[in-house]
Amino acid sequence: MTNPILSDWTTPFEIAPFDTIADSDFSPALDTALKAHNAQIDAIAGNPDAPTFANTVEALEAAGEQLDKVLSVFFTVAGADSNPMREELQRDFSPKLAAHFSGISSNKALFQRLADLWARKDDLSLTDEQSRVLMLTHRGFVRAGAALTGDADARMQEIKARLASLGTSFTQNLLADEREWFMPLSEDDLEGLPDFVVDATRAAGQEKGADGPVVTLSRSIIVPFLQFSPRRDLREKAYKAWTARGANGGETDNREIAAEILALREERAKLLGYANFAAYKLETEMARTPDKVRDLLMQVWEPAKARADADAEILTQMMQADGVNGPLAAWDWRYYAEKRRKAEHDLDEAALKPYLQLDRMIEAAFACANRLFGLEFAPLDVPLYHPDCRAWEVTRNGQHVAVFIGDYFARGSKRSGARCSAMRSQAKFPTVQAPVVINVCNFAKGDPALLSYDDARTLFHEFGHALHQMLSDVTYESISGTSVARDFVELPSQLYEHWLEVPEVLAEFATHANTGAPMPQDMLDKVLKAANFDQGFQTVEYVASALVDLEFHDGAAPADPIATQAQVLEGLGMPPAIGMRHATPHFAHVFAGDGYSAGYYSYMWSEVMDADAFAAFEEAGGAFDPDRAKALEENILSTGGSREAEDLYLAFRGRLPGVEALLKGRGLISA
Ligand SMILES: [Zn+2]
Repeated sequence: MTNPILSDWTTPFEIAPFDTIADSDFSPALDTALKAHNAQIDAIAGNPDAPTFANTVEALEAAGEQLDKVLSVFFTVAGADSNPMREELQRDFSPKLAAHFSGISSNKALFQRLADLWARKDDLSLTDEQSRVLMLTHRGFVRAGAALTGDADARMQEIKARLASLGTSFTQNLLADEREWFMPLSEDDLEGLPDFVVDATRAAGQEKGADGPVVTLSRSIIVPFLQFSPRRDLREKAYKAWTARGANGGETDNREIAAEILALREERAKLLGYANFAAYKLETEMARTPDKVRDLLMQVWEPAKARADADAEILTQMMQADGVNGPLAAWDWRYYAEKRRKAEHDLDEAALKPYLQLDRMIEAAFACANRLFGLEFAPLDVPLYHPDCRAWEVTRNGQHVAVFIGDYFARGSKRSGARCSAMRSQAKFPTVQAPVVINVCNFAKGDPALLSYDDARTLFHEFGHALHQMLSDVTYESISGTSVARDFVELPSQLYEHWLEVPEVLAEFATHANTGAPMPQDMLDKVLKAANFDQGFQTVEYVASALVDLEFHDGAAPADPIATQAQVLEGLGMPPAIGMRHATPHFAHVFAGDGYSAGYYSYMWSEVMDADAFAAFEEAGGAFDPDRAKALEENILSTGGSREAEDLYLAFRGRLPGVEALLKGRGLISA
């Protein structure tokens, strides 16, 4: 019998036939697909004909169609509906896949063909998109070390292996320190904590086998504890333990690991011919150079610090009024900020919730996409991997555009957080394929399901990523949809969040679950205002981390990263009552892997753009200005990675983004 994953999918729109796939199908399907892909790669690399764009680059684009099928189905269910067998398969698959892809990128014969094409690129009569795909493919191989030979090649392999193992140790040490520490609370110590924190501390106590409630270092417990506990001594103890993660001495200490990682990254960048690791890392990003990143972060830093300093004075006065003398400490900030929030913007979450029904918020996201881009959504009845999943056919002027799947509810088998992925990416080569896009969230189930405001924002955010996939209109899959620079990929998603804040959208779709009445104006105002609260603190703690990350990688690797971190903070004039969002010994974004190294700035880079891009709508004719919507689709949402991110933004906006809209949006300068 043929494996249902690898057979032709005769379902509507060729959605994976989930109802016919068994977990026992994955492993044999993966083995077959890897073998097939290897055979294709060997055939391309060993082709006796001289390299052409078609027999090399296009052949690579077309290869691996079986592998795409297996991986898209497997990773969808493994992330959103796992079980012990799927978890075991995942542990089994990841080293196999790592070896497979590293084998391709170190295939010298294949690289020779790409290098040959690259040298003759101007004589190949390529379209703009083809030139771009050749450049990206060649560059990907070079950056992976394919052009190195002899000792340099051997050393590169050693460095990669060592970095992978150091990254794993860094993560495991951090988890060990987080698991190890907890602080028992007496019943009296619970005073002042809201019910949800009390419940969480009790559940944590049970999990730790303690007699009663405990505070742990999990962000979902420690942060609300610091926010709500009136016990300054306990806050201090908990805060110190939280910020000491990875720096407790002994076997789980991450400080030397961080230094070794930084040294190896620098060596790796130099082997590849870059001045330092930041130059290597930023080459593929919109920002391009460390100076541009630093310049942007500093433009945000100054007003953020000014706001934080002013806030610190207010919080210090509140603390002194409480009878506590001396300076405001890092374990005091969240507590007094929460008191201030209550006094200034009391927003009753419980009263707000009935106005944010999941189904109405989905309708709102669809309605905005209809007004902006003419998309229509019709429910689609197809078997999916879980009964909670819903599907829609997306059309425009009667033409099929995409299938959109929403898997919104939390369950034990689902990984936390929210995400968007393409189960099939848009492409026109080797055949035309329409995208199948999924949003996976973790909202609480209910009848009707109700969202918090943050949840509603997440829904719009992920739907923004989905639009980037669904409206993609390129030829080659490798540059389709969200295959863009890391510091550009959050632009469509963060931008789409702005439509939730458009008063007419909330007025139409935020209706009360029981009465159907629209949200009252004063509640609407409070919701929008609360979003700006304590932005001095939040911006300062984030930007400080981003600048430290940048300094670590721009120039010679520091022998003592902790000393370098201290110097950077001192140079910035870091407010004493604010810590870094992530300090070096537990900065997993930067040290657990390469993903956000010299890249932690990307969140803010994207935010600068989304604020500036939405301002373009407001300046033009409002949130639904048709010309701006058309420009957004033509230059950003449909173009994938077919051009440089900076060119795409310029084409949309006519100029590069400035920080002003972000500073206004965060309330750091007056509107
Ligand atoms: Zn996102």
